[in-house]
Amino acid sequence: MSDCIFCAIVDGDIPGRIVHETEHSLAFLDANPLAPGHTLVVPKEHHARLDEVPADAAADLFAAVNDLVPRVEAAVDADATNVGINNGPAAGQEVDHVHVHIVPRFEGDGGSPIHAVAGERPDLSDEELADIEAAISG
Ligand code: 5GP
Ligand code: ZN
Repeated sequence: MSDCIFCAIVDGDIPGRIVHETEHSLAFLDANPLAPGHTLVVPKEHHARLDEVPADAAADLFAAVNDLVPRVEAAVDADATNVGINNGPAAGQEVDHVHVHIVPRFEGDGGSPIHAVAGERPDLSDEELADIEAAISG
């Protein structure tokens, strides 16, 4: 997509600190990192939402994430990582090209677990849970 910043990095039209490349995926350092080593992994083809990424590219994307996590942790001597996707604007996605965040974490860094991203926790009845289970499993 012509006005997409991540497509521009994939195409080499703007600079990116590229740390890994596969057939379908590219990984580069986040320009405004939440922690040293904060890395973004993107499918080379433009897709806004995760479910729009074709299966082969999605498999490649998650294999790249799997390869990169230990390398990122080792590079910055991190104790752990949070790995996540803001999938849609309501979830905080600002760049509408699918990207997986790998955020290094350090003991006592003052951050939060991924549970902190959602709003107030719902109090769901067994019936509501059963309805959701059925809706997801189809
Ligand atoms: P989102 O909120 O969409 O999940 O995250 C977008 C991420 O892209 C942010 O962490 C932001 O710092 C990063 N970002 C935005 N523009 C650029 C850019 O031009 N280059 C790089 N490397 N990262 C960017
Ligand atoms: Zn794009």
